Amino acid sequence: MNPMSPWMNPELETFRDAVRRFCASEVAPHQARWREQQHVDRALWNQAGEMGLLLVDAPDDYGGSGGSFAHMAVVFEELAYAGDMNFGLHVHAIVAHYLLNQGTEAQKNKYLPKLASGEMVAAIAMSEPGAGSDLKGIRTTAVAGPDGYRVNGSKTFISNGYLADLVLVVAKTDPAAGAKGVSLMLLETRDNPGFRVGRILEKVGQKGQDTCELFFDDAHVALDGVLGGEAGKGFAQLMTELPYERPIIGVSCVASIERALELTVEHARTRKAFGQALIEMQNTRFVLAEIKTEATVARVFIDRCIEDMIAGRMDTVRASMAKYWISDLQCKVVDQCVQLFGGYGYMLEYPIAQMYVDARVQRIYGGANEIMKEIIARSL
Ligand SMILES: Cc1cc2nc3c(=O)[nH]c(=O)nc-3n(C[C@H](O)[C@H](O)[C@H](O)COP(=O)(O)OP(=O)(O)OC[C@H]3O[C@@H](n4cnc5c(N)ncnc54)[C@H](O)[C@@H]3O)c2cc1C
Repeated sequence: MNPMSPWMNPELETFRDAVRRFCASEVAPHQARWREQQHVDRALWNQAGEMGLLLVDAPDDYGGSGGSFAHMAVVFEELAYAGDMNFGLHVHAIVAHYLLNQGTEAQKNKYLPKLASGEMVAAIAMSEPGAGSDLKGIRTTAVAGPDGYRVNGSKTFISNGYLADLVLVVAKTDPAAGAKGVSLMLLETRDNPGFRVGRILEKVGQKGQDTCELFFDDAHVALDGVLGGEAGKGFAQLMTELPYERPIIGVSCVASIERALELTVEHARTRKAFGQALIEMQNTRFVLAEIKTEATVARVFIDRCIEDMIAGRMDTVRASMAKYWISDLQCKVVDQCVQLFGGYGYMLEYPIAQMYVDARVQRIYGGANEIMKEIIARSL
């Protein structure tokens, strides 16, 4: 898998081997249990922190591993190759980047080393029951008082919600000011009586990922807990950082497509019907040839995106293309692969069935694919 990316080099190959071993020993064997309990083990975060996997592309000054987006891409690819959609490292890394790029020096020094070590797990809370795609509709408020901000409202569908120690909450600090009244609040969940985690939501797939409802009832945020130190900048910060989140989804999608193809070729070689292996039948060969072509096209595009992320020249439009087009492709490809597995493809003990249920949401979260098309269309 990932045979020939131009951004790979011997150092990254060594790093990939280490990540692959980590996934084989600490991730893959536990997935069924995580799905059962609806979250990964808290200890996984510390183990990944010890390995230096949590903030691979953050500077060492803040506890990061001092790598580039290439290292991050390797981690996301290896998790996807291991079939894991439970470990919410993506969201954790996204919050770290908000801090890195938008936080004050004090905020970076306070939180990044703990996020790097796994002492703290991060979540980002934008979506509410009444506002998902249209974030202007959020109702959660953060009102400043003498001893800090009081946060009130609720969020839903929050990844890492059950285990999170730090939640970056999108809230209105000045409801009358429209987009200019939105701020990103650094809310610590420990010893915060006004904060409550609701249910871990029962999902179609990604069942080992703790996606939760969160409730704020006069939850406390310190007065210096507004990201960047100045209220009212939240929308601009969201717009600046979203290009980081979307290629990450694209990277996972391409790796999942490659894994689905590999699993299906293997099955088609060994499974026999009508006296021949499935792969000898023209339909199977043509479907797999199409998938291989599409996987190659997606790989070339995402490799270019990864190179641009490394060089810091990714733009919102291409980030949206990567998210929408490759997640659509992933769902189509995995569905075709399930068909070639026959009844076994519908049995959750087969990885391809797990991939089928895990894939669907990639078209919804991180900005629904229709929103991605809106963003792309604005550039026409
Ligand atoms: C498993 C999972 C994990 C998630 N993790 C997080 C998280 O960690 N943090 C967080 O804040 N949120 C998270 N979300 C929420 C996710 O980002 C939202 O579900 C998503 O943005 C869509 O919002 P919505 O569900 O409110 O759908 P809606 O906004 O109601 O949209 C429903 C559908 O309407 C269509 N639509 C909406 N607007 C437009 C438009 N302008 N043009 C055309 N069509 C449109 C689209 O087809 C869209 O899918 C998660 C969701 C899931 C399912």
